[in-house]
Amino acid sequence: MKFKSLSLQAIGLLLVLGTLAACTGEPEAPAQQTAAPVTEAVATAAPVDSVRRVGTQDIVAAAGNNSEWLTHGRTYAEDRFSPLTQVNRDTVGELGVAWSFELDTNRGQESTPLVIDGTIYFTSAWSKAFALDARTGAEKWRYDPEVPGRYGVNACCDVVNRGLAAWGDKLFLGTIDGRLIALDRDSGTEVWSAQTADPELRYTITGAPRVIDGRVIIGNGGAELGVRGYVSAYDAESGEMLWRFYTVPGNPAAGFESPALEMAAQTWAGEWWTLGGGGTVWDSMAYDPALNLLYIGVGNGSPWNRNIRSNGEGDNLFLSSIVALRPDTGEYVWHFQTTPGESWDYTATQHIMLADIEIDGRLRQVLMQAPKNGFFYVIDRTNGEFISGNNYVDVNWASGLDPVTGRPIEAEGIRYENNPIVMFPGPLGGHNWYPMSRDPATGYVFLPTQNTSYQYTNPGSMEKQELGWNLGLDPMPREPANPQDRARVAAMSPSSLVAWNPVTQSPAWRVDYPVYGNSGTLATAGGLVFQGSADGVFHAYGTNDGTEYWSREVGDAILGGPVTYELDGEQYVLALAGQGGAITLTMGLLSGNHPRYQNGRLIAFKLGADAPLTTAVPTPPAPLDVAATTTQGNALAGALQYGSFCSVCHGPVAMSAGSIPDLRYSATLLSQDAFLSIVLDGLLADRGMVGFAADMGAQDVENIRAYLLQQAVAVPR
Ligand code: CA
Repeated sequence: MKFKSLSLQAIGLLLVLGTLAACTGEPEAPAQQTAAPVTEAVATAAPVDSVRRVGTQDIVAAAGNNSEWLTHGRTYAEDRFSPLTQVNRDTVGELGVAWSFELDTNRGQESTPLVIDGTIYFTSAWSKAFALDARTGAEKWRYDPEVPGRYGVNACCDVVNRGLAAWGDKLFLGTIDGRLIALDRDSGTEVWSAQTADPELRYTITGAPRVIDGRVIIGNGGAELGVRGYVSAYDAESGEMLWRFYTVPGNPAAGFESPALEMAAQTWAGEWWTLGGGGTVWDSMAYDPALNLLYIGVGNGSPWNRNIRSNGEGDNLFLSSIVALRPDTGEYVWHFQTTPGESWDYTATQHIMLADIEIDGRLRQVLMQAPKNGFFYVIDRTNGEFISGNNYVDVNWASGLDPVTGRPIEAEGIRYENNPIVMFPGPLGGHNWYPMSRDPATGYVFLPTQNTSYQYTNPGSMEKQELGWNLGLDPMPREPANPQDRARVAAMSPSSLVAWNPVTQSPAWRVDYPVYGNSGTLATAGGLVFQGSADGVFHAYGTNDGTEYWSREVGDAILGGPVTYELDGEQYVLALAGQGGAITLTMGLLSGNHPRYQNGRLIAFKLGADAPLTTAVPTPPAPLDVAATTTQGNALAGALQYGSFCSVCHGPVAMSAGSIPDLRYSATLLSQDAFLSIVLDGLLADRGMVGFAADMGAQDVENIRAYLLQQAVAVPR
């Protein structure tokens, strides 16, 4: 329990410290399939030209398609609800492992698989894609876009990938180095590749594309790293770019790309364009075919601190907004800004879900989102008008939302112009990228929440770092000054599954987890909602009241969205186990009881199955003999440097959460020269550990080594 309260503090500390990731690659052994019984014969040979082509009507009608999972959120409404009932409250006790497929790393597992015509397609770390037989788990093909390791440093939150899109006979994949790649679905070979982000700027792609009528829609990330956000559309057949919508205005002197951006520029001040502006579209999208509207979720400002980004003025459109666009032209239609004047990494990139629900006796076409800022929004998706909103986690930055406009009623001091402020939620949000799901029977939305906090401090100015994060925050760690704040943080449960009633804007039920990190959710007509937790357990709860009907230990965190499908009369449930973004997982580690199997695994469950699944975790390495070296470095200064440059990947207090090396055990620490050549000169750049000569000197590196040696002494023996 002492550890738990430490973890609550550590989030703040980690995030204060965490200004950059040097995401190291690790030597990766070939993936192998395990425990996949090859008893079922491969389907009878089909004619070569019979490859299932996915078209508009297939995705529009996906809600009733039980044998496939055609698009990221299962339907264009992104509701992640399956009508399948074979696995239900009465039968789920018989759910067992049908097969598992072992990956080459446990890092970066955030994918939602697609299932098309008896084949599963999913992604893993470093933007790799895999195709497996959906009945047996046997590998059909794999594709590695061979992202150069040095791009790992641009991944704010590890080299994750959240999935693919399908159209025609192709799949579409975004990569960490900013490419959009079309693959032949049958063979996994590359058909075309488009560089959708400038590789010299610090863009990354981790989100799943969507396809609307032959147009592949793709965004990107990098708002911690000085980029300007946009979303683009590409022709699915040719790879030609069709349109691009920027989410924040550029330099007015260069002219605006659209009237919407000219309007948006009125809400900015200073020379924001020199700092990028941010507003990246790194995850959520939804589409309404009847209205022909594409909805995109827009991220935070770059830098975070509006005092620096925009002279402390203006709403800064379209940061932290939901924007509706015409998918054929990219033309702006409407927007709703959840967090005007964003200054806290309160992105609105979280899952967007569409539904038609009755509110006050009227059937409303709504869009729902639980963005990082802690409020659940119900918006009229025809025009962007606010219908209702309420906080779904503890918040202290706003007393509520204006009942007419939905604008937050801000608490005093939250813009930290002069004094630091502790905010709930912190930059990880009350809800992050973990997808929601919805049960139409109860109307509940199953929402993975987390309680986070952070102390924001204005440094007054920002010196732009080449490889570090550029947040415009004072990186000095500080305890919350106010004992009430400290007590409030300590009293929060790390993460929860909340069944949210969007009509009443209140929780129907809640399940609390003892650790940080809980996965996306899947709701089924079997009356169940599936969710994984970072303590390595896959759960099934009753949709009506949260009763746990089944659980299974899998030896590692589950974070991505589970999916389900039926083949040959058998219902399968898929869960991807493994580590996700380093920050979240480190939080999980700090809160204890956090198993780490050595590799990520895609695990298929079905009734009556009993395939083995080892949950053994690797033995910790032997402690270093630190007496074998000496240092004149300053460990305290090194702790601050470590926090700024290393902690996001290698973990706060040098405790690594994933398969990124835990530096407390690294023999490299024993040699000043070897450590210097890696950290400063980039000896391991091809594996993702770039050199930091642009931002650090030799003394800084030696200070970091001194800090790490200090941490190495303290490992459990
Ligand atoms: Ca962000």
